[in-house]
Amino acid sequence: MVATCWEDIFGQIEAISKLKRFISSGNLGHAYLFAGPQGVGKYTTAKVFASAVNCADGGCGKCLCCDKIAREIHPDVFQFAPEGNFITIEQIREIKREANLKPFEANFKVYIIDEVEKMTMEAANALLKILEEPPSGVIFILITSNLEGVISTIVSRCYQVYFRLIATNLMVSEIMRRYETDENKAKLVAKISGGIFGNAIEMVNSQRRVKRRESVLSLVEKLNNSDALELADGANQLIAEIKDFLDELKLKQEAELAEVEKIVVDRACVSRIKKRLVEKHKRERNKEELGALKDILDVLSSWYRDVLVLTECSKENLLVNVDYVEKLKNLSKSFSLQKAQSALEIIQETRRILRFNVNKQLVLEVMLFGLEEVT
Ligand SMILES: [Zn+2]
Repeated sequence: MVATCWEDIFGQIEAISKLKRFISSGNLGHAYLFAGPQGVGKYTTAKVFASAVNCADGGCGKCLCCDKIAREIHPDVFQFAPEGNFITIEQIREIKREANLKPFEANFKVYIIDEVEKMTMEAANALLKILEEPPSGVIFILITSNLEGVISTIVSRCYQVYFRLIATNLMVSEIMRRYETDENKAKLVAKISGGIFGNAIEMVNSQRRVKRRESVLSLVEKLNNSDALELADGANQLIAEIKDFLDELKLKQEAELAEVEKIVVDRACVSRIKKRLVEKHKRERNKEELGALKDILDVLSSWYRDVLVLTECSKENLLVNVDYVEKLKNLSKSFSLQKAQSALEIIQETRRILRFNVNKQLVLEVMLFGLEEVT
């Protein structure tokens, strides 16, 4: 589901009411900084805010304007994110050139810049200059999950809006309400998704993450009874699943691209928007791949963390993988604090290495061999 209006955003009451107050006061600033943990709705809220200031109905979620913003094909609402590891000076220069042009159809041109802490120093200084003398009718929404990483001169130029992790019990009732799931499933999903509602929704909506978790956990269960070939095969399987999904995503993206011509009537805009969409699709695929790898490591960390909990204090209510309690208990009998810590260190090191441009399958294989050895 693509969120298109305020009602779709869950649990961020303070942030939303603050933004609504800006709009109703008629005193819209030109720069906002949305800060808070990853996956709690900052990006979605940024798009809804862009709708709210541009839609004739204050962000109805139903009109063509709201639809185009939600699909990221509105000619006056722009999305930027790191290209590779950084937001570059070229990207900020593009914003500068663009921001001085008149809007095509919107009241306000909106620039949403995600992961703004990843600007190079050059880019940050260039953005600061724009924020110091902002073009009229332009709103910047900067997004970060690492506020400390954003230079203070930029922070002080923006209205700051904070987003929070959502309490597990609230998430459980919302998941039950939205998806009519039973309480046990909702609790499991809420726990595994670590307070990140976006993850929880994805887990309920798509079987992909659930299946991935099952693949990882079945592999980890077999760790000590497998030979090298089987482990390599397991790593291969995980990578193949990610690739299958990326292929599927590519098909969806191609369909989305084909649809642009139907929605965007203005011929002058079509090729520009298509170009933006292609860039967005590339970012989405990168993000998906990295997210999938992160998922695998998160599942593994939560597993060994659970083993650690049982080894140290046997408090079952602290477990994340509540659907594997018996297996975890069995495993913890032959485990020690030292073993669990070594496993967690190996996973942490794998996380670090995966940030670089490396052969992902090989890295996963090395990790599995390492885990087999220490456990
Ligand atoms: Zn609307």
